[in-house]
Amino acid sequence: MKYLSEYRDPALARKVIENIKKISHTPVNLMEVCGTHTVTISKNGIRQVMPKTVTLLSGPGCPVCVTANEDIDKAIWLARQPGVILATFGDMMKVPSPYSSLSAEKAEGVDVRVVYSTLDALQIADDNPNKKVIFFGVGFETTSPTIALSILEAKKRKLKNYSVLARHKLIPPAMAALLSLGEVKLHGFICPGHVSTIIGSKPYEFAAEEHGIPCVISGFEPLDVLQTIYMLVRQAENGEARVEVQYKRSVRSEGNTTALKILDEVFEVCDADWRGIGIIPNSGFKLKEEYSDFDADKIFDVDVPPPKDDPPGCSCGEILRGVKFPYQCKLFGKACTPERPIGPCMVSSEGACAAYYRYGTGKALVNR
Ligand code: SF4
Repeated sequence: MKYLSEYRDPALARKVIENIKKISHTPVNLMEVCGTHTVTISKNGIRQVMPKTVTLLSGPGCPVCVTANEDIDKAIWLARQPGVILATFGDMMKVPSPYSSLSAEKAEGVDVRVVYSTLDALQIADDNPNKKVIFFGVGFETTSPTIALSILEAKKRKLKNYSVLARHKLIPPAMAALLSLGEVKLHGFICPGHVSTIIGSKPYEFAAEEHGIPCVISGFEPLDVLQTIYMLVRQAENGEARVEVQYKRSVRSEGNTTALKILDEVFEVCDADWRGIGIIPNSGFKLKEEYSDFDADKIFDVDVPPPKDDPPGCSCGEILRGVKFPYQCKLFGKACTPERPIGPCMVSSEGACAAYYRYGTGKALVNR
């Protein structure tokens, strides 16, 4: 398949679905750990066309959703400091912490700005030499290299008023944490294509080798995902567990060595706090000591109050661990909608609750 339209061809899709049905005999739970896959699956009704034996679960694949309240609070308190401009990507604005949200702060006059790239944030720093510009960096291995590059660029330009609040997270340790928790019996991971373009396929080998869980790195078009499901079911039915790459047009086993070198130059791996899971060892990035002049955690000393729990009834934590489907939250579609979100999984366009709400819950599938 060379062209985009071929990845959306309904006739080809029907064939792959038939093939999945033909080979699938044993019930399997397959988890996608990427918000973009959650959207592809929901938007194209892929859950609805699976045989009864195949259940698709959403995991901790939405970077905004997995950001802990404590980290959102830190960003809010930093933004409130005099002379600070806090820049971040749009999805973070509406994510509520029990105290506030960045958009609520902005409405109150706090200087919070939405940027489309870290270059925009650097430009704001250039244009406002008397202000301190903090970029609130949230995301997985995909966006981390651009943040690292912004730090290298700030150093090159000798910018003294640019720093990063780094809250980047790494996907394979989160997969390992879910497997260790053992709350959900998993039979395969639909691995994230974008993340894997950076890190390659090797970091998933632990899942296959140590836990016997098949992994397939998938592209983002409907036929990519269907083919990935076919490959996972085939492995499960054959009693195999290995890492396969469906997204061959983008992913190499060694990843993007240039991006990995940049990450290694600026960041070191640290423990990170994930919403719904807690602290996962070695699952985040922090700035290396030699870049501490650009590290907002080191530059600013703010007194952030202890984090509060999620609003009563919000099941985001369970949804991010694959323990619950979004429609099993009693607030789903009633008190909590994209217009009035209560939890982060309804805020981000890649959040599982938002995807289920927008494209249909697939509830009927439970009894299909
Ligand atoms: S529906 Fe809303 S309240 Fe319920 S889990 Fe999803 S985001 Fe949280």
